[in-house]
Amino acid sequence: MASIATLGSHCALQVLKGAKDEGFSTVLICEKKRERLYRRFKFIDKLILVDSFLEISESKCESLLKENNSILIPHGTLIAQMKQEQIESIQTPIFGNKHILGWESDRLLKEQLMMEAKFDVPKSISSPKEIESLVIAKRHGAAGGKGYFLASSEEEYNKKRDILINQGLISGDNDLYLQEYHSGVLAYLQFFYSPLKKEIEFFGVDKRHESDIDGLARIPAENQLKSSDVPSFNVIANSPLVLRESLLDNVYTMGENFVEASAKLVPPGMNGPFCIEGVYDQNTQFKVFEFSARIVAGTNMYVNGSPYTTFMYNEPMSMGRRIAREIKNAEEQNKIDIIVT
Ligand code: AMP
Repeated sequence: MASIATLGSHCALQVLKGAKDEGFSTVLICEKKRERLYRRFKFIDKLILVDSFLEISESKCESLLKENNSILIPHGTLIAQMKQEQIESIQTPIFGNKHILGWESDRLLKEQLMMEAKFDVPKSISSPKEIESLVIAKRHGAAGGKGYFLASSEEEYNKKRDILINQGLISGDNDLYLQEYHSGVLAYLQFFYSPLKKEIEFFGVDKRHESDIDGLARIPAENQLKSSDVPSFNVIANSPLVLRESLLDNVYTMGENFVEASAKLVPPGMNGPFCIEGVYDQNTQFKVFEFSARIVAGTNMYVNGSPYTTFMYNEPMSMGRRIAREIKNAEEQNKIDIIVT
């Protein structure tokens, strides 16, 4: 039987607890500074201590993972800390499709995949000179919203960009992608696609609490105007949401369209967990500004299942556990090759 491994951050606890519940042994690649934290959790069988997560593609770490017959579960930290070439060079089998992670990190590829999935995507703005209404400037990769900002004109954009350059967060315009800002109810839709069952499962919805932007509503406008800070969209926490039931049909359609588009553009397609992220407007139209092609940290709150997993499973089913269940099913059917890259 394989063991299940992941990096010590993001959703590692959920992933490894789910793996243990499904009977797997568990391996954590752990930065030395976090050893004390992760030793507290008894469902983690083995820690591979590293100075930096980049060591995961080095032979010492790879051979320990091989010895343990590990399958690596990718999450946001892997994408945030490694370039796509480095991820591609990892020899350990990676759950899902590692090639699609590069499409998540690159804003232009991301847009292409979202258009192929027939999503209603906010317009991207190719140059700051073309800013005519409120836009959001976003960094590439899985930056978690840190260093993002809003601007209504080129002048405002330039001013805020320069502040971020001085803070060392970006080096220039090339580090930013501009998109029309849409106001409404933000929702992060969590899915799992099983290539074994050829079926999509809608797992749950979360909302994100982002600093500093969420705190602004507590500050009167006159005080906001006196501040020269650039409020960021850094994700701090998540909380649960349930959608109006009439929205669910379209949610499934979006998930299925995404799976279909990925199979076409990034073989072998979107296998495993993913998230479609956007905003509902007053007409219940969903503008999709982003996707994550792997497990998102918003699933962490549903370790005992979500309102939606309850409709599919008569047992507590977290996303971490669902991943482990898929690996177990693939092993039983001798189809591991289908679920890893
Ligand atoms: P992202 O990295 O694309 O997930 O964006 C981080 C955060 O920025 C999101 O969680 C939203 O709060 C916000 N955001 C991103 N794009 C848009 C948009 N087009 N309209 C409104 N808010 C957005």
